This record gives sequence, C-alpha cells and structure tokens, in this order.
Amino acid sequence: MIATDLQSGIERLGDMIAEASAIVPFTGAGISTESGIPDFRSPGGLWTRNRPIPFDEFVASQDARDEAWRRRFAMEETFAAATPTRGHRALATLYRAGKIPGIITQNIDNLHQASGIKPADVIELHGNTTYARCIGCAMRYELAWVKARFDESGEAPNCTACDEPVKAATISFGQAMPEDEMRRAAELSQQCDLFLAIGSSLVVWPAAGFPLLAKRSGAKLVIINNEPTEQDEHADLVIHHDIGETLGPFVGN
Ligand SMILES: [Zn+2]
Repeated sequence: MIATDLQSGIERLGDMIAEASAIVPFTGAGISTESGIPDFRSPGGLWTRNRPIPFDEFVASQDARDEAWRRRFAMEETFAAATPTRGHRALATLYRAGKIPGIITQNIDNLHQASGIKPADVIELHGNTTYARCIGCAMRYELAWVKARFDESGEAPNCTACDEPVKAATISFGQAMPEDEMRRAAELSQQCDLFLAIGSSLVVWPAAGFPLLAKRSGAKLVIINNEPTEQDEHADLVIHHDIGETLGPFVGN
C-alpha cells in the first residue's frame, strides 16, 4: 500500500520496525543526496554528461586511466565534504539497537561506515570510491598516494608491487559484480523479516533483485523513494517522500 501522507507513512513504518527483529536496509543514491553527493544516474547527472569509462577501456588505455582519475579528483571536494544524512543516522541508530545485521548498498560514498556501521557490516555492491586498489593484486592505495603520483608524473600510477593499474575501488561498467558481496546480500535478503529499499529507483540489476528475493523469502518489504519504482506493487508499504524527512524521526541519540 502507498502511504497517503508522510505522517501516516512514518507511523506505519514505526510499527513495522518495532515488530521486526532483523531489518535489512538496501540503499541507493537517494539516501546520500542530502549530503551533496549527486545521483550520477539522474537526468542531468554526471553520467548523462560524461560517458562512464568502461572497465576494459580503463585496463587497455593509459589515456582512459588518466581521464578516470582526473574525473575522480574533480569530485574529491564533494566526497570529502559529505557527512552522513538523517537517513544514514537513522539506520545507524537501528544498527546500534541490534535491529540491523547488515546493510546492502549501491552507493560508493562510504557514508554508512562514517555513520558508525562497522565496515564488515556494509555490503557494497558497487564498491567504494574513497580509496583505490590495484586491479592485479588488489593491494589497497589511498587517494592521496594516487594524487601525488599523478601530479608528479602526469599519469595515473601503477601498483608498486605488480605494476598493474591502480583504480578507484568501485565496480565499473563491464566489471564483474563482486561475488562475495552478492552472496552475502542474498543471504541477508533471505534471512531478514523486514527489508527497507531506500532511495533506489530499483532499476539497476542484479542489485534490484534483492527486494523481491526478500519478499519471496517471507520478509515484509518497504520502499522509500521520492519517485515511484517498478517494484512498488510488491511492497507492503511505499512512502513517496523525502528520505531525510521520512527517516528523521528514527534518528536516536
Ligand atoms: Zn598490484
């Protein structure tokens, strides 16, 4: 059912949260926009103006790697300044209360971890843009290291251990979904009794399959998103309102 107004939606959501023992949130760009991080996929968003660089191009071309890193550094001010929103903080409150065993996210901004969720309990389906990894041996590099090398040589650097390219730790177009994260997300979806899809238009597959998996496994499904989604008809509760306003009442001390 679609909440007729924000207040009744919040009340119904509060009842469902109180009744649930294992809540699994699934978050998309909408939970972070309040922090100033744009929705790359939205009309007018970064990806409609700048074609994303597919993984095979990144691997094959130094020019593509240089361009990818120039774009990433251009976003650094935005990512570095972003802090957890009311939505992140509400989920962190429920996590501290022992209600949330883990969070599945499509976001790459590290804001769930910044809100106090243990990194091991944040399942990042699309990786994390706040650090980098070698695509050969997976060694971790910090962005400051990459920036210093780039500024010095004018080129995106390779790994000091194996000489393969170093890439932001995100999942690019054309790159395989992370197996371990997909498996853990499926397990959480099957084991929860309340699944909260928050700020995702639920159109990017295979990630968009998790709400339906949870529903088929017996969980109640809540969708909170400004815009209608293709899965609204399957949900037990749909709230088409601002995420900060909807989850704000659930932010605790
Ligand atoms: Zn390496």
